[in-house]
Amino acid sequence: MGERDYQADMQNLRQRAEVLIEALPYLREFRGHTVVVKYGGAAMIDAAVRTEVMKDLVLLDHVGLHPVVVHGGGPDITEMMQRLGKEPVFIDGQRVSDAETVDIAQMVLTGKTNPNLVAAIQQQGGQSIGLSGKDGGMVLAGELSGDANMGFVGEVLEVSPGLVQGLISQGFIPVIAPIASGPDGQTFNINADHLAGRIAGALKASKLILLTDVRGVLSNRSRPNSLISELNAQSAEEMIRAQKIEAGMIPKVRACLDALAAGVQRCHIIDGRLPHALLVELLTDVGIGTMVVTA
Ligand code: ADP
Ligand code: MG
Repeated sequence: MGERDYQADMQNLRQRAEVLIEALPYLREFRGHTVVVKYGGAAMIDAAVRTEVMKDLVLLDHVGLHPVVVHGGGPDITEMMQRLGKEPVFIDGQRVSDAETVDIAQMVLTGKTNPNLVAAIQQQGGQSIGLSGKDGGMVLAGELSGDANMGFVGEVLEVSPGLVQGLISQGFIPVIAPIASGPDGQTFNINADHLAGRIAGALKASKLILLTDVRGVLSNRSRPNSLISELNAQSAEEMIRAQKIEAGMIPKVRACLDALAAGVQRCHIIDGRLPHALLVELLTDVGIGTMVVTA
């Protein structure tokens, strides 16, 4: 090997080692801490992207963080509804759910999306268990307050974190489908962002990370370069009122504010399409996406 090759090799090794070393303070900070990850949107449809997200979750778990996954499944539900000849209707980013729709949502989320995610994590060498809000009575849901008639779209009334904590302590990565029962046993379809925020709060998670299909909160939706890196509660509410934050972004921002109020330290809305967005967010000093803060 020539001297130049040797120098190039050394440089390459140093760079690789530096990337690992950069993670050290973050590993020290987050070891043993719970991180709730909401997974949905485009990051879920694309198989290659999905595999990368699963690898990140397994890596985080192996280095001692405790990831908890809450998933959506909008596209899967919409596809099944269309196969069954039903047209989906959304108000403010939430699916209007009549009895038939909530039935379909439950079948798709707990019968397809959830076990497929569990299997994908297992395939990357993680240990995972799937559950919905119904399991162990983890989530108690109630009718959504508000004027629009959303049908059986639920709001989280209460989360009992014991079951998830138990699974974490046994080394599992819990994967949670956004379905829960009301006090009288009625099934509710719950927005996964909202559920993730409430679960993060109940678990006293260190972080809530919402993976989506845009860079974060944009000040102008049609300009990808208008990313807001830090959004406070007051600006968020103003942007919602001015319809600058719309549809599916509303429950995300609200979930972050909810989680912060419940004691979660940091909440981020990031682009799940970026390769290894989770690792970059958690283990490097690069900040991506939008961090939501109270003030
Ligand atoms: P997910 O499946 O990840 O929950 P959603 O479609 O429910 O995705 O929510 C993300 C969407 O929110 C974006 O794709 C975008 O169309 C919409 N959106 C609304 N307002 C904004 C905004 N101010 N900045 C970025 N995205 C926004
Ligand atoms: Mg959504």
